[in-house]
Order: sequence, then structure tokens, then C-alpha cells
Amino acid sequence: MSADLIDGKAFAGQVRARVAAQVARLKEVHGITPGLAVVLLGEDPASQVYVRNKGKQTAEAGMASFEHKLPAETTEADLLALLDALNADSAVHGILVQLPLPPHIDENLVIGRIDPAKDVDGFHISNVGLLATGQKAMVPCTPLGCLMMLRDRHGDLSGMNAVVVGRSNIVGKPMAQLLLRDSCTVTIAHSRTREIEALCRGADILVAAVGRPEMITGDWVKPGATVIDVGINRIPAPEKGEGKTRLVGDVHFESAAAVAGAITPVPGGVGPMTIACLLANTLTACCRANGLAEPAGLTA
Ligand code: NAP
Repeated sequence: MSADLIDGKAFAGQVRARVAAQVARLKEVHGITPGLAVVLLGEDPASQVYVRNKGKQTAEAGMASFEHKLPAETTEADLLALLDALNADSAVHGILVQLPLPPHIDENLVIGRIDPAKDVDGFHISNVGLLATGQKAMVPCTPLGCLMMLRDRHGDLSGMNAVVVGRSNIVGKPMAQLLLRDSCTVTIAHSRTREIEALCRGADILVAAVGRPEMITGDWVKPGATVIDVGINRIPAPEKGEGKTRLVGDVHFESAAAVAGAITPVPGGVGPMTIACLLANTLTACCRANGLAEPAGLTA
């Protein structure tokens, strides 16, 4: 491996420490405690783990954590009523509804009901529009974490060629908007893109958010490029024993790391940054709600 490893786990620890220091200051100087409400419907084991981790890290940062675990059969009307109550609650600065929602609930309606100022996931159409028009927005956590790592590595991203593989609303599109905002020349690739390997080989910054295990191999990577692997895929790992699995990204790590200048591992790259950015967004939302200056370096 010749690439530098971008240690997302360590970086996320630094972001959380900066958030915790700012939270302590907010409490001491202004008597304000930022609060994050997380709403979970149903018993999906992966979602339960995410919600537990979010609650734990929120409390560790000194913030108030409000967990609302509701049965899967909760009606849309009851969920919307809860969101109305959270929107009106001045102790709650951030609201996150864990996705996916059960099929009887309209996800767009639910996201649209969250007060955009408390929308710490950055999925509300107002925040999408604010980001696209270069205004102050709540920025989705995963691409925000990627941007922080890229800025940390390169400082100024201006003029760099960036290719984002994937055009989802939660990763690909906001990632492209953020890179454009930092004056990269941005191309978004997707399943219909022609000659995608050659396109990727032109990228100084290559972001993979595809959901296909190890699709991007070393021969797609420009020598010296920075590769950010958002993918989290669980694949069989018979070498570890019968029925065992392991996590891999959308990038084939070994071959890409032999060519890239820097690369994020999976696990331990983008993943840990996502929750750290959720905490950062909650702090940002709290500062904005109270007319206070936003903490530097924790938003886009
Ligand atoms: P998604 O909504 O399924 O979107 C995948 C995108 O990849 C789509 O735009 C799709 O193109 C594109 N794609 C699929 N096959 C392709 C191919 N063969 N060549 C080029 N593009 C292709 O996925 P997502 O929600 O953005 O998530 C992407 C990955 O990131 C997943 O592995 C997910 O688990 C992971 N993730 C990680 C975090 C984290 O915290 N680290 C957070 C969110 C997601 P079309 O639009 O043309 O179909």
C-alpha cells in the first residue's frame, strides 16, 4: 500500500471532542444544553444499534438525548403529531427520524414535517434547496463528514476534479453540491454512466457511494488521487469460518490503495464521521436557534 490512510475513526474522535468542548462552553456561558431527539419506529436490529450509538454519543458530548421508540404499527398521524410536539419543544434543537420507515408511512411527508432549522439530517427540501443555492443549510451528515476529511487532507479544494459515483439524495447529490461549493469541478456518475472507469481515472477526488462491494478497483484510480469510500457492504467471509461475514466498501481497498495518494478504510473511514457530524449539526442548530455564532470548522 502506498496511499496514506485517512483515519476516520480518529478524526471523528477529534470532531466529537470539539463538539463536547463547545457544548460545555454553551452550558457554562449561556446556560443552554443542546438537545437531540431521535425517533425510531419498529424493531429493525440495525436501526436499533444506530439509535443506541447515537444516544450514547449524544450524552457523551454533554447534550440532552431524547429517544422516542415507537411500535412499527404507529400511524402516520401519530408520528406527525410527535414531530409537531418536538418542533415546538425548545429543549430539542435537532430531530432525526431513523430511516427506513415502515411501508405504510410516507417518508417524504414525515421529513417535510420536521422544522428545517431542526432537520439535523439535512433531508428537508428547504435544506436541500439552501445547499443547492449556496446558502446556510443543515447539511446531510455523511457527505459533511467526507467534506471535513477532504478539507483536512487538502486544505483548499478549489479547482480539483471530483467524481462522485452515486446520485442518491442522502449521499451522492449533497456530496456533489458540497464539492461544487468548495469550487471543485464535479462530475456525478451513476448506473447509466458510460466509460465510468476512464471518468474516474480523471478524478483528483473520487467519492464512491454506490452500495456495490469493491466495485471500484485500482485501475479506476488516478495515481495520487484521494479516494473516499462511503460504501458499507457485508459480504461472506468463509476464510473467517463457516457463515462468517466481513464489511467492505465500494472500493477494492488493496488495489486502490496501491495507486491512490490517500484513502479511507472500511470500516473506520466515513462511517464514524457520520455520527460525529450529527452531533456537530445539533450543536450548529442550537447555536443558530439561540442567535449565537456557529462553532468554526464544524459545518460546511
Ligand atoms: P443508493 O441510494 O442505493 O444509491 C446508489 C447509487 O449508486 C445510485 O445512484 C446508483 O445509480 C449508483 N450505482 C449503482 N450501481 C452502479 C454501477 N454499477 N455503476 C455506477 N453507479 C452505480 O445508495 P446510498 O444510500 O447513496 O448508499 C451508498 C452506499 O453508501 C451504501 O453502501 C450504503 O450502505 C453506504 N452508506 C454509508 C453511510 C455511512 O455512514 N458510511 C451512510 C449512507 C450510506 P442509479 O441512480 O443510476 O441507480
